[in-house]
Amino acid sequence: MSELHKFLFDGLPVRGVLVRVTDAWTDILARRNSGNAEGAYPLPVQNMLGEMVAAATLMQSNIKFNGSLIMQIFGDGPVKLAVVEVKSDLGLRATAKVSGTLSSDASLSMMVNVNNEGKCAITLDPANKFPGQQPYQGVVPLFGDQHEKLESLSQVLEHYMLQSEQLDTTLVLAADDKVAAGLLIQRLPLEGVGNLAGSLVSQANEDEIGVNEHYNRIAILASSLKREELLTLDVDTILRRLFWEESLVRFEPLVGEQAPHFSCSCSRERVVNMIRGLGLEEAQSILTERPDVEVACEFCGEHYRFDPVDVAHIFAPPGDVPPGTTSVQ
Ligand SMILES: [Zn+2]
Repeated sequence: MSELHKFLFDGLPVRGVLVRVTDAWTDILARRNSGNAEGAYPLPVQNMLGEMVAAATLMQSNIKFNGSLIMQIFGDGPVKLAVVEVKSDLGLRATAKVSGTLSSDASLSMMVNVNNEGKCAITLDPANKFPGQQPYQGVVPLFGDQHEKLESLSQVLEHYMLQSEQLDTTLVLAADDKVAAGLLIQRLPLEGVGNLAGSLVSQANEDEIGVNEHYNRIAILASSLKREELLTLDVDTILRRLFWEESLVRFEPLVGEQAPHFSCSCSRERVVNMIRGLGLEEAQSILTERPDVEVACEFCGEHYRFDPVDVAHIFAPPGDVPPGTTSVQ
């Protein structure tokens, strides 16, 4: 079963989160295998999407935010788009669009950054937006300081965290067809230390980047975690092996109903709005070729069907519903 563990290093300005997404991840893969005409993901795409699931879950659990964290990679290669959405309650969904063929050992850049034009976007979409409020979005390229292509998602996201939060972060990510797992280690921000306030605190925070000896020591320990260990060992064993010389304060783990779980927010009502957006002409032209308008959710595989009567109802003016028809909403 999926589980998420938070911990602090006693007396040190460093915190950590370890996540293992199991049932929710195999659920995502099973829905893809059965519900999508394109079939199962190629192996490297599966592993990249799994790492995104682990990373997005770690980042969502690491911020105090009521809403969705959406991680998107806009690729310039065979993978055009990969998306993971994690809500505050750790309900999550994920999907990727693949066109063309990929070798089974394709690297990150071969999938999404062939011409060094791939991008990664993180969007924070509040649950209760006031009118006109825009979601916050940060975008980072998939290359490093010297424009060199980055070959691990963790490096891309470490850059993002440094840019957006001015905090040193170490991520270790791994995924296969059974588990999407990740470890996040982050330096804690300074909060109003001594007489420092406002801009002085943020300056002091920036001055700490890369130089905090406790963070650096713990980050090196975390980075020694191997992919195989992260995928196969239980949480207690991982934390003991990495940090046996450190003093850990562990919080109650999120398991069972609180653990990361599959959740899709699609609905017939949303699809109705989408068809309305297409326009009557477009919807009718689909109906000249097929018995109904069929829309499949990319995330959960649910199929929504609308026959000609449903479509007429969707475009009927309010209050002008032909007798004998049933509501489609
Ligand atoms: Zn869905």
